Amino acid sequence: MSFAYRLGSVQAGPPGAVESGEVRMRCPFCRHTDCKVIDSREVDEGAATRRRRSCQACGKRFTTVEEPVLAVLKRSGVTEPFSRDKVVSGVRRACQGRPVDEDALQKLAHRVEEAVRAGGTAEIPSHEVGLAILGPLKELDEVAYLRFASVYRSFSSIEDFEKEIADLRRAAAGEAADPRDRAGRGAGPAG
Ligand SMILES: [Zn+2]
Repeated sequence: MSFAYRLGSVQAGPPGAVESGEVRMRCPFCRHTDCKVIDSREVDEGAATRRRRSCQACGKRFTTVEEPVLAVLKRSGVTEPFSRDKVVSGVRRACQGRPVDEDALQKLAHRVEEAVRAGGTAEIPSHEVGLAILGPLKELDEVAYLRFASVYRSFSSIEDFEKEIADLRRAAAGEAADPRDRAGRGAGPAG
């Protein structure tokens, strides 16, 4: 019988679960912890390791697939695996009624994941995930961005919105102004 299940983060395991870099697995049949690795190979282009194991107690064999998990540290102190789906559902809420399709949401979540992974730490505070969402969302849809930012930054007054909108306007004006354009004007013959 082939029995495969995906492991969570090595970090998230109970203390003492890791022994010389090797996760101690419980047998799915008898829950015994002494299982011997009989085969180990990389899968998903090295993103995960598939291990064939044999239980020392009941002798049954099973397979584990281990992949390092990017953990998100929530304000409550609890960690959970980074989930692109969670990014998508959070942003989708902010995009309600906006012309943002599923494809754009997936692309945004992909960018967020890349930004978060590029940070180089295995445990990211949840507010940094939110921060990584703001930039791409601003490019995608300004209304959705305002909605998301208002929750993420806990806007408490109209002034908070006004300030954010002023920033958006300034940024938009900055992009629109082409320096060559300005240099051209006034430099020519007076008309
Ligand atoms: Zn067993």
